[in-house]
Amino acid sequence: MIQMEKSATAALLETAEKSVLFTARRPSIVMERGEGMHIWDTDGKRYLDFVGGWAVTSLGHSPAVLQEALSRQASTLVHASPGYYNKPMIEFAELLTSVSGMDKVFFASSGAEANESAIKLARKHGAVNLNGANEIITLKNSFHGRSLAMMSATGKEQWKELFAPKVEGFKHVPINDLDACFAAVTNQTCAIMVELVQGEGGVHAVDEAYLYGLRKMCDMYGMLLIFDEVQTGMGRTGKLFAYEHYGIMPDVITLGKGIGGGFPLSAMLTKSKYDLFEPGDQGGTYTGAPLAMAAGYAVLRELLEQNLAGNAKTQGQYLTDSLRKLSCEIPISNIRGKGLLLAFDVPDGTAAELAAICLQDGLLINALNPSTIRLVPPLIVSQKDIDQMLSILFRAFGQLQAV
Ligand code: PLP
Repeated sequence: MIQMEKSATAALLETAEKSVLFTARRPSIVMERGEGMHIWDTDGKRYLDFVGGWAVTSLGHSPAVLQEALSRQASTLVHASPGYYNKPMIEFAELLTSVSGMDKVFFASSGAEANESAIKLARKHGAVNLNGANEIITLKNSFHGRSLAMMSATGKEQWKELFAPKVEGFKHVPINDLDACFAAVTNQTCAIMVELVQGEGGVHAVDEAYLYGLRKMCDMYGMLLIFDEVQTGMGRTGKLFAYEHYGIMPDVITLGKGIGGGFPLSAMLTKSKYDLFEPGDQGGTYTGAPLAMAAGYAVLRELLEQNLAGNAKTQGQYLTDSLRKLSCEIPISNIRGKGLLLAFDVPDGTAAELAAICLQDGLLINALNPSTIRLVPPLIVSQKDIDQMLSILFRAFGQLQAV
C-alpha cells in the first residue's frame, strides 16, 4: 500500500502530543492566524469567534492599533526592569486611573496575579488598620484564578480538595445572600471579594440590593470591598466597568483579560488611602513592563475612541433578543448576562457536543459546563456576525444526537 504523506497539521498535532504538557482536552486543529472576528487554522479553515480567546481579544484578532503599538514599543524599549519607571507605564497608569475612578494602579500579567495583589493589599490593610484581621470572604461558585491562593479564594466545589493543603483565610458564602455574608464576618475579616457577574461560574450577576448591602457592611467594619473585574471589566458588560451598572464604588478593582487585547496584562487599582505597600511587599519582574504598558494604553484608547462598551451594550441586547426569539424553535433557555458576557442553558449533557458541531461548521462557542454555553465575542462584533452565528447554532441543534 502507498503510504499517504502526513499533512502538516497532523505532524504538528503529533509533535504537540509529544511535547506539550497535557492540561486540557483540545480539538485536533492548530490555530495559525487571526483578523477581526475570525481565526484560521493551519488547514486554512476559518472560524467565526464567539469565544474571543476566553473574553480576551476585546478589539478582535491582531488589531492594527495593537500591532502598531507593540512594534513601535518593541523597537524603542522592550524591558526596563521593575526597579525603574518607564514612560509607557506612567502614561498608561494615568489613563487607567482617570477612567476607573481609582487613584493608584499596580500592574501584573494575569488575572490571578492581580487578585493576589488585591488579597495582599487587603491583608496589609488588616495588619495596619484592623488589628491584624486577615480573612477574606468570597462567593461560592466564584472564580479568581489558578495560583494556589486564588484556588483557595475561588468558590468552586470541585477545587475544595485539589492541591491541598489550601491557603488559609478564605470563607465562601452563597451569592445574593446578605444574611449569610453578615454571619460570616468576624473581627478577623479584612475584605469581601466578588465578581459582579460570575463568568466561569455560569454567568450569574449579583443583585443591586445585595451589592449595596456589601458596600454598607464594608463601610461599617472598615473592610475592603474588592471587585474582581478580570472578566467583566474593559467594556465587556456594556459599560467600561461593570460596577457602573450598580453605581457602587469598590475600594479595589482587579482587571485582566480584555485589558491587553491578547497581550498578557492585568492590573489592581485602589484609592490613595489604601496605598499601603512598603518596598518589598509587592512586585514582580514584569510589573509595568514597557511592551505590556504600550499594549494596554493602545487597547484602552481604542476602546474609548470606538465606544466599544457602547457596541457591547447594543450588540449584547441584539444577541439576547435574537436568542430569546430562537428559543421558540430550539431548546435553549435561561438566556442571561450583561453586554457581551452572555450564557444560555441547553439540555443537560449536550453543551460539549453542540460546541464540537459548531466548530466543524466554522463557529467557536464555549461549553462552560455540560448544560451551559457562554458567548464572549470580541467587542467589535456586528449584527451580521451575530446573525451568522445564530444560523450556525440553529443548524447545530439539527445535528445534535442527544436531543
Ligand atoms: N478572575 C476572573 C473573574 C476570571 O474570570 C479569571 C479567568 O477566567 C481570573 C480571575 C483569572 O485570570 P487569569 O487566568 O488571567 O489568571
